[in-house]
Amino acid sequence: MPVALTIAGSDSGGGAGIQADLLTFAAHRVHGTTVVTALTAQNTVGVSASLTVPPDFITAQLDAVTADFPVAAAKTGMLGGPEQLAAVAAGAPANLVVDPVLVATSGARLYTGDPRDYLRLLGPVTTVFTPNLPEAELLLGRPLSTRADREEAVRELARHGPRVVVLKGGHDSGDEAVDVCWLEGRVTDLRARRITTGNTHGTGCTFSAAVTARLAHGDHVGAALAAAKRYVTAGLRAAATRRLGAGAGPLDH
Ligand code: PLP
Repeated sequence: MPVALTIAGSDSGGGAGIQADLLTFAAHRVHGTTVVTALTAQNTVGVSASLTVPPDFITAQLDAVTADFPVAAAKTGMLGGPEQLAAVAAGAPANLVVDPVLVATSGARLYTGDPRDYLRLLGPVTTVFTPNLPEAELLLGRPLSTRADREEAVRELARHGPRVVVLKGGHDSGDEAVDVCWLEGRVTDLRARRITTGNTHGTGCTFSAAVTARLAHGDHVGAALAAAKRYVTAGLRAAATRRLGAGAGPLDH
């Protein structure tokens, strides 16, 4: 069984973070290992408290996992703060998917440092970079309203090191959810019919975990992105009318 690693925060509500990543890894039949970077007290309504793990303990977890398991691919989610991000940048394995988790949908801040740390410190060791629209706007410091803005954005983000960039369009409107990608030196799209639902909590975590799982199986990166897009769309569709908690519920796995 291939081994994947998630380096991310815990969501006590089980919808996002480490919990969503392990559900996604299990659904893809890869063994999931974990480096916990932060804890959140969280449910479908919001985040009431969070706590970061000391950077030395992040390094200890990374060392323990990579010393014993043949980690074929890894991802990062919530890192919490700049010291945690630096510890991950120093010890992250190859084949790394980076989801720049900055702010929760509910508005809670999940990264206390300068968003550009993601580009400066993690960019050079990133294989696939997966910001959503609000995150990319924070990283680049400008609105990304038009198609031309977004094509320029993926080119610019790739100049910081990632081989592949997926600018996720789920926060936009329209009949289709369109992700603009920088893949093999050119701009391409990932498209799926938009699923209208309030149950979108954990969508970003799940997408990056599915890409990681497919990379761990040895997929070519383009195939991994397409499979991950299908997995998230199916998970959204299956949970679209479910009621779980009073706020934004999780997708299905
Ligand atoms: N909590 C944790 C631990 C996360 O890793 C993430 C996202 O990556 C979130 C919350 C945010 O999820 P959402 O924006 O779907 O609420």
